[in-house]
Amino acid sequence: MDISFSEEDLAFQRRVRTFIDNNLPTGMALWTKRSEWFKALADEGGWDVPKWPKAFGGPDFTPTQRYIFDLEMGKQSTPPQLPFGVGMLAPILMNYGSEEQQERFLPGIRDGSVNWCQGYSEPGAGSDLANLKTRAELSDDGTYYLVNGQKIWTTLAHIAHWMFCLTRTSSAGAKQEGITFLLIPMDDPGVEVRPIITLGGSHSVNEVYLTDVKVPVENRVGEEGKGWTYAKGLLAHERSGLAGIQNSVMGLEKAKSNARKVAVGEASLMDLSSFKHKVGVLEAELMALEFTEMRTLARVAAGGDPGPESSILKLKGTEIQQRINELNLEAAGIFAAPWGPEAFGPDFAHGATQSYLGGRATTIYGGASEVQKDVIAKNVLGLS
Ligand SMILES: Cc1cc2nc3c(=O)[nH]c(=O)nc-3n(C[C@H](O)[C@H](O)[C@H](O)COP(=O)(O)OP(=O)(O)OC[C@H]3O[C@@H](n4cnc5c(N)ncnc54)[C@H](O)[C@@H]3O)c2cc1C
Repeated sequence: MDISFSEEDLAFQRRVRTFIDNNLPTGMALWTKRSEWFKALADEGGWDVPKWPKAFGGPDFTPTQRYIFDLEMGKQSTPPQLPFGVGMLAPILMNYGSEEQQERFLPGIRDGSVNWCQGYSEPGAGSDLANLKTRAELSDDGTYYLVNGQKIWTTLAHIAHWMFCLTRTSSAGAKQEGITFLLIPMDDPGVEVRPIITLGGSHSVNEVYLTDVKVPVENRVGEEGKGWTYAKGLLAHERSGLAGIQNSVMGLEKAKSNARKVAVGEASLMDLSSFKHKVGVLEAELMALEFTEMRTLARVAAGGDPGPESSILKLKGTEIQQRINELNLEAAGIFAAPWGPEAFGPDFAHGATQSYLGGRATTIYGGASEVQKDVIAKNVLGLS
């Protein structure tokens, strides 16, 4: 495995750094000038869609360039794009969608004018996703599907214009067969979105009820009954993306700096050996995870797939995110107790509890930790 950067890679890293220095808005402008930032990225040669291939306007980064790009962007906390369109649906459309679907949907995904949500999970189908029951029945004249069922935990459904949705068109054969991938407009009168307020007090997930929703056949991606294959193909990439390693590197530095501000006797919380120990263990695990990511990249660079090792990235990456939240909670101490908009104590204490509680979800979504452990046991360690 070769994980050192070549001269070209180092030159690319300098280019990314210079680009960020010249273009990233600072302070509040980071939010008000968001669209200018994405425009500058696009003008640089498709950097607004770093994972897209050149044929669709992306930069065709090598895996190492992509790593460097994510590293530098993560270090500066640049504004993220919503993942569902650019990161999840777009690759499915590129690989399995018709030319008409690509022309119709990719521009709105890219410029952020059309929001998407992911309608996979159902009350009886989470880890066991293939158990999904939402029915899509083809009309007698073969022009539309009539969709009935319920989705749950649908992130940002309340602001989405469209949902990409796994539906059941047949119950014959294995559960994985008979699943069809449909694109459903959220403004259809048969679509009802009900909010779910999570432990952290935020509204990001929803229930979505589908009642007699008529979906034209031209909104079916690929073949009827092949939706499982399309959705599954991208899971390894999705899992690698959820590790959030660069954010954790930055988050841990911030947690250390917060702890230095908390007085404990004559010293600070950061000087306490029990706290230092937790930080040290996290730093070592984060470094190990970075190398695991580089190993995965080296394999992709050599023409392979990310493979089941992406489950290690998802499992450890999300555990580390939660432990960083715990350090912040510890540093905030009693000031983490107040709930709501009023702030007490140091700045970093405000919202620490919400982040901690909200962060519990990271080891559930994108495939729960127990399921990742199963994948690692069977497909990485070869245990049966
Ligand atoms: C904040 C949040 C956002 C989400 N966003 C979306 C979204 O946008 N779109 C979408 O479609 N879904 C979304 N989900 C759903 C998510 O993918 C599921 O919650 C997840 O797959 C787990 O399914 P479940 O909740 O049904 O739990 P279950 O599958 O019922 O699992 C319950 C428990 O049993 C354990 N378990 C299950 N199977 C096994 C097994 N084989 N071996 C060992 N243990 C097992 C699990 O690890 C878990 O601890 C989101 C979830 C959350 C929390």
